[in-house]
Amino acid sequence: MLISIIIPCYNEQEVIQITHNRLVSVLEKITPQFELIYVDDGSQDQTADHLRQLQQKDERVKVVLLSRNFGHQMAVTAGLDHICGDAVVLIDADLQDPPEVIQEMIDRWYEGYDVAYGVRTDRQGETPFKLWSAKAFYRIMNRLSDVTIPLDTGDFRLMDRQVVEALKMMPERDRFLRGMVSWVGFRQVAVPYQRSPRLAGVSKYPLFKMIRFAADGILSFSLVPLRVAIWAGLFTVALSIIGIIYALFVRLFTLSWVPGWTISFIAILFIGGIQLVFLGVIGEYIGRIYREDKRRPLYLVRERLGFQFDNQNSHRHRGKKVTYAGENSNEMI
Ligand code: UDP
Ligand code: MG
Repeated sequence: MLISIIIPCYNEQEVIQITHNRLVSVLEKITPQFELIYVDDGSQDQTADHLRQLQQKDERVKVVLLSRNFGHQMAVTAGLDHICGDAVVLIDADLQDPPEVIQEMIDRWYEGYDVAYGVRTDRQGETPFKLWSAKAFYRIMNRLSDVTIPLDTGDFRLMDRQVVEALKMMPERDRFLRGMVSWVGFRQVAVPYQRSPRLAGVSKYPLFKMIRFAADGILSFSLVPLRVAIWAGLFTVALSIIGIIYALFVRLFTLSWVPGWTISFIAILFIGGIQLVFLGVIGEYIGRIYREDKRRPLYLVRERLGFQFDNQNSHRHRGKKVTYAGENSNEMI
């Protein structure tokens, strides 16, 4: 039984060595057979060099270097395309997810579960705003969307190979992995754990990125925002009917017609505003359709270290091996 661990890294030079040591010491106690797949998501610091050194010292380490920063979810996707294991664990590079929990996830897997997802019972070192916004997000998400994402889950989880193969069949660009994993089904179980503060460095999820991420989650799993337009439309139509009756009444039965401008003014503003909002919502969906339709690769690999691929698609360039997209399913989609 080979266990693959995927560690996405973006500017994690301060923590990478410590994370690696801790992962290895935990994993060696659990299983003799594991591989560590580090995905460098276009870091601008020395992360890639650190990974190179790790790989040279330890053949269980494999490294995928992406051609630029594609974002956390794409980095994980790239990792999933490169695993050989029977089960895979996704874990952050900053040790916020304690590697010790992997033991329990593997126990669950042996019991027959296909997905063992970490649920945070306690999150130290996070701002109250982050805690509040995360909570609000899961509530809204579950209300609006077609899938249920358990409260307080992140991407820290174990998945059976079968689940990974199912995920590989989902080519969407707006990748919200925890939603996708929930969508595929299989037998899933929660593993509670305490989330620690970040070991060093800063969070790569500033507020605007978090909002984007939340929007991805909701828009790619829900048509509710579009349906709200219909309800709001019906509501305004109902209001206008009242307005029309009122206007006719005033016109027919009273002499003072002119002062009615207030209501028309309000109606124009109100309906105009609602229309603009929903044009925006529709635009957001159309933009996503457009982006999907271009069928660009989800990510591009600059270099792979430690893999035994047949290198048909690669050649040497300035002494370095260069590989093109196409070796893996998602890259072509
Ligand atoms: N990460 C990544 N690409 C990005 C942003 C983040 O690969 O564009 C990685 C990062 O190195 C870390 C994980 O995703 O291993 C989670 O990121 P972070 O800890 O910054 O997020 P937070 O825990 O604050 O939500
Ligand atoms: Mg973190």
